[in-house]
Amino acid sequence: MVKYVIITGGVLSSVGKGTISASTGLLLKSMGYNVTLVKIDPYLNVDAGTMNPYMHGEVYVTEDGAETDLDLGHYERFVDVIMTKYNNITAGKVYFEVIRKERAGDYLGQTVQIIPHVTNQIKEMVRAAQQYSGADVVIVEIGGTVGDIEGLPFLEAMRQLALEEEGNVVFVHVALVEYLKATGELKTKPLQHSVQELRRIGIQPNIIVARSEIPLDEETRKKIALYTNVKPEHVFSSYDVSLIYEVPLTLRAQGYDKALADKLNIEYRTPNLSKWEEFVDRVKKANKPVRIALVGKYAKLKDSYLSIKEAVIHASAYLGLKPQMEWIDSVELETDEEALKRLTTFDGIVVLPGFGARGAEGKIKAIKVARENNIPFLGICFGLQLSVVEFARNVVGLKGAHSTEIDPNTPHPVIDLLEDQKNVKEVGGTMRLGAQKIILKEGTTVHKLYGTSVIYERHRHRYEVNPKYVDLLQKHGMVISGVSEKGLVEFIELPNHRFFVATQAHPEFKSKPLAPSPLFVGFLKAAAGL
Ligand code: GLN
Repeated sequence: MVKYVIITGGVLSSVGKGTISASTGLLLKSMGYNVTLVKIDPYLNVDAGTMNPYMHGEVYVTEDGAETDLDLGHYERFVDVIMTKYNNITAGKVYFEVIRKERAGDYLGQTVQIIPHVTNQIKEMVRAAQQYSGADVVIVEIGGTVGDIEGLPFLEAMRQLALEEEGNVVFVHVALVEYLKATGELKTKPLQHSVQELRRIGIQPNIIVARSEIPLDEETRKKIALYTNVKPEHVFSSYDVSLIYEVPLTLRAQGYDKALADKLNIEYRTPNLSKWEEFVDRVKKANKPVRIALVGKYAKLKDSYLSIKEAVIHASAYLGLKPQMEWIDSVELETDEEALKRLTTFDGIVVLPGFGARGAEGKIKAIKVARENNIPFLGICFGLQLSVVEFARNVVGLKGAHSTEIDPNTPHPVIDLLEDQKNVKEVGGTMRLGAQKIILKEGTTVHKLYGTSVIYERHRHRYEVNPKYVDLLQKHGMVISGVSEKGLVEFIELPNHRFFVATQAHPEFKSKPLAPSPLFVGFLKAAAGL
């Protein structure tokens, strides 16, 4: 029998529901179950690809090229499962499909309605994710907060699912419990109300995870149990921890794993988390500091580059380093000479992915600082493109060299659209997306780091290094250390530099706590002078 864990959120969004869903996945997988996770996003965008990362956080790209919610990144990092386009369902995707079916005449003259047509479509998509993965347990995280208008059809669909799959569906409700510092009290009323709202639409949660600053005391736990109609031993406390990777351990210490097995009616097996615990330990014990500057346009919102931040944490733990990441706004670097000078005090500089003109010159300045001062440098996607621009301008001497994304009239379009991309009109899902083969050049830094000649990394970009300039760049000392199957530039590096590597790909998406990205390991090693 397939089992389902439905995770809802109450009171506020951004209370770490994604981490709790991922932790649930890790615990079940560590019990030996085959797990998949589905993120439901009740917004009308078909996918996250068209959304501003400043508001929405990073767009996470899957192996199969889906542009998804950043929670899928948590799922892959915690559970080490491959996510696909089936694992992120948005309201946009659901309605798109329902309307397509209506136009195709599939509903045979019926009035097409939220119930049953939209709700059926939702269930069909959840089941499709299960079928595609062959999972024993499907964890479905419903984005947003209980009570949101957009979320209603999804909750209704899950209520129906529970009836259709009777005995095989467990509801976990994650809600904030506010800590009032003035009185030293944990306030449970908003959580009670969010559970009431759930029950009003026919869902009785089986397990409550209370998110709070400090651990729940016994009295508060009992109070929550009483008011939510859940057993006290099924009320869990997810309190603030310094490292998100500790969350599954804190939940397990309270018996969350047992409660899941009990409620799902599956055999309980002690989860084997020794490797995970070792990782958490390594992060906590690491004491050699390494200061990394991360230069980007959305630098104020760390979530915009979540996977990069995590990749730095994974690689640092592996090397026994304590990373100190500072987010630098590239727009400021354009006018603030002091900020630019301060860049030289960092052990390493990362130039982040990005789109558009704002802050691009600031990134180019940061790249110049890294190149001229022999500071370990890692350029990711846009970071590679702008490294090529910087090199073309300042080393090759091509005045005004640029990417046509920023300056369509540049005399030296070193970064440009390929012919087939020039005709693309639609914005959504039309970039070079997903995992693609990269062939690494023997003897280069990246070849040594990956230890193999053929790798696969994920992509999300539209512009490419213009093939017409490749010879010239090479003549002036730039090494093309990786190319795509079609011969497009995937990696560049500069010899005679401590570490200057940039990639057109996004290796951050594949980095995992127990399997750090070789590229990040190489960069941090150089930054720390190891
Ligand atoms: N804007 C660039 C492109 O579309 C880079 C994209 C990115 O950094 N992900 O090619």
